[in-house]
Amino acid sequence: MSADPKFARIAIVGLGLIGGSLGYAVKRGKLADHIVGYATSEATRRRALDLGFIDSAAASLAEAVSDADLVVLCTPVGALGDVAAAIEKHLKKGAILTDAGSVKTAVIRDVGPFVPEGVSFIPGHPIAGTEQSGPDAGFAELFDGRWCILTPVPGTDRAALTKLTAFWEACGSKVDVMEPKHHDLVLAIVSHLPHLIAYNIVGTADDLETVTESEVIKYSAGGFRDFTRLASSDPTMWRDICLNNKDAILEMLGRFSEDLSAMQRMIRWGDGEGLFALFTRTRAVRRAIIDAGQDVSAPNFGRNPGQAGPGGGRG
Ligand code: NAP
Repeated sequence: MSADPKFARIAIVGLGLIGGSLGYAVKRGKLADHIVGYATSEATRRRALDLGFIDSAAASLAEAVSDADLVVLCTPVGALGDVAAAIEKHLKKGAILTDAGSVKTAVIRDVGPFVPEGVSFIPGHPIAGTEQSGPDAGFAELFDGRWCILTPVPGTDRAALTKLTAFWEACGSKVDVMEPKHHDLVLAIVSHLPHLIAYNIVGTADDLETVTESEVIKYSAGGFRDFTRLASSDPTMWRDICLNNKDAILEMLGRFSEDLSAMQRMIRWGDGEGLFALFTRTRAVRRAIIDAGQDVSAPNFGRNPGQAGPGGGRG
């Protein structure tokens, strides 16, 4: 039997792309009587109120969470420990505490010790996003058709997990439950490595002396510009992901380096057959992503000539 996805009062802490999109999705689905929001700066809190994805702005973390039935932490991962310490004494008994952080083992390490008796802490991660950040980046449809991974800790209350699952489904998501460590390994390959490759290739191009910057920009449609979208993602968020998913990222970077060396060797020795076989195999992966409804089949990511394409950088 599915649970009621609604909460009387929801607190959203962090009012950027994810917090904002969540506020809009909650409003669209009429999933709360009241949404209270909190962000560090007064400017962000005021902007969120003006945009209308929260009903009220709290002046402090304590005030934001004190009467909330669901608290969703949507700050950068590196801030979550301090936020948890500040709200510990103010969380309501019976409340569900969750987050949207892009890594899970480190979040459990940092937030777990501050979860009081009677509060259900269920870490989460919506696999949806863009390269934009801040309150103006949010939109109601962000989570539609995208997966949200919940990584419950031992002893998690089943009813709370069922209710949080129903909540994310009502926000448009499909929900999977996973071990935190496995989550971090999976995300290292599908999200963290692609972003790091993009940051690296754009950095390399920026350092080149034999090709001018104006040439890199002028001829970017050759493939480079697709990397620049990922490489324009929020620096704070990606610094925190690297620092907090170190082991899994280093493991995937190691494998990537080995495969890159193998490719280098194929090019050096003119192994056309090997290169052709690899490029054929990777094409099939793209096909599978489209078949699974996780991207569109339109050429060039659905861009019209001369137009910027839809977003999709995902933490
Ligand atoms: P964002 O747009 O940069 O927004 C972050 C928000 O957190 C801002 O409102 C900021 O307030 C607030 N904040 C920062 N430190 C805070 C603190 N100590 N106390 C209270 N508020 C604080 O970031 P985002 O893209 O929404 O990402 C939020 C979280 O979702 C991150 O953990 C990220 O890993 C995860 N995530 C991101 C994506 C993605 O694609 N972007 C996807 C899935 C999950 P100010 O505006 O006042 O600075």
